[in-house]
Amino acid sequence: MNEQVEDEITLRWADEPKAAYDVVIIGGGGHGLATAYYLATRHGITNVAVVERNWIGSGNSGRNTTIIRSNYGIPASVRFYQRSVELYAGLEAETGRSVMHQRKGLLWIHHSETGIRAERARAHLNQAMGVETEFVGPEEIKAIVPEIDLSGGGRFPVMGASHHLPAATARHDRVVWAFAEGAAAQGVDILQHTTVTGIRTAGGGSGAGRVTGVETDRGFIAAGTVLSATAGHTTTITDMVGLRIPIRTHQLQALVTNQYRGQGGRAFHPIVASAELAFYVSQTARGQMLMGAEWERQPSYSYRSGSEFLRSCTAKAITLLPFLRDLRVLRQWTGVCDISPDSSPIMGLTPVDGFLVTTGWGTWGFKGIPAGGEALAELIATGRTPALIAPFGLDRFARDRILADAGSAGTQ
Ligand SMILES: Cc1cc2nc3c(=O)[nH]c(=O)nc-3n(C[C@H](O)[C@H](O)[C@H](O)COP(=O)(O)OP(=O)(O)OC[C@H]3O[C@@H](n4cnc5c(N)ncnc54)[C@H](O)[C@@H]3O)c2cc1C
Repeated sequence: MNEQVEDEITLRWADEPKAAYDVVIIGGGGHGLATAYYLATRHGITNVAVVERNWIGSGNSGRNTTIIRSNYGIPASVRFYQRSVELYAGLEAETGRSVMHQRKGLLWIHHSETGIRAERARAHLNQAMGVETEFVGPEEIKAIVPEIDLSGGGRFPVMGASHHLPAATARHDRVVWAFAEGAAAQGVDILQHTTVTGIRTAGGGSGAGRVTGVETDRGFIAAGTVLSATAGHTTTITDMVGLRIPIRTHQLQALVTNQYRGQGGRAFHPIVASAELAFYVSQTARGQMLMGAEWERQPSYSYRSGSEFLRSCTAKAITLLPFLRDLRVLRQWTGVCDISPDSSPIMGLTPVDGFLVTTGWGTWGFKGIPAGGEALAELIATGRTPALIAPFGLDRFARDRILADAGSAGTQ
């Protein structure tokens, strides 16, 4: 890293909070930091603080399995995630920082007639919207992933898949740091180890009032606008302004194995997911096999991993990719996810003037970081909700305009 940049960042992060900011962002994950970055770089708004109770990236943004894709099942989502795929592809050039972005393609495999029908429809929708998703049969799947057992252990026969070519991965903590460094270099304050404990509002009257700032364990910070970007902790923040929000917090776990050298030394290139098994795997830059499965049904704020996940995830993995049985599990971990009723994110204004949310990112929000940040920055800067995120407002539940897309979430 450039020494001068490092000094600036170190100094800025050591600063005491200022008494007031134009914008305070609660949560130093990808969404909070990307919003700060785009506020500074696209709109010249730099009197901004990102307030993070631990260290940046300590939440889901530093715990995810790094899959970026746009093969969604409804037009609003395809459009939104396609913008994110584009921004990710250009992120290294834009920020000047390596995020280890790698285009890999994703095979979304099905084992039933019903699944195949739904997958074909999704591929058609993607194509109609200019997204490269093709339907492929078992032979083509075998050519892309020679390791696959097409009989699925005799129980989950591989009947077909969609091949989503733009799918990619990027190193999660590098994405967090690229946005953080980029924002800090523009003058944004990143306040780590600072917990928001309350939110002050004024002038409630018959409405919900206007936000005036945040209480923290380092004192009160005044703010014209406050954005909550706190993933699984969203309801603890919205409670502070008396706002009920349809989010439940559920755990999602992941694990990584030791290095797989590949068949004939050939890397395991694509991302492979099975819809019916609710399982997915990819290979990291270190050659380790990174996998995950569905979110835990029981709501919880706990970060503890469990042996049941280890058992069920590895059983699914071996069903489809028998070579995985020869590897060793090195680590497993958990994040707490903000699950919305329709499996789509919630972004934008709330009934509390000046208080915004970006949430409902659930198990699928890493891929949405650049587009979410870009759109929220525009909303904060201009006061107008960009068309790209207009369908994702909190008011959609009251207006009966839900964006039901659980089939695209891939983890249930
Ligand atoms: C195991 C796992 C695998 C995943 N895999 C993928 C994937 O492959 N692809 C994909 O697209 N998505 C994936 N996701 C989802 C993705 O990681 C998240 O949706 C995304 O990172 C959310 O980013 P965020 O910035 O909203 O939240 P976070 O990164 O969780 O950041 C929120 C921050 O808010 C802070 N905070 C909370 N309360 C307070 C407070 N009171 N004061 C100050 N700070 C506070 C937290 O400490 C945290 O750092 C996965 C998630 C998990 C857990």
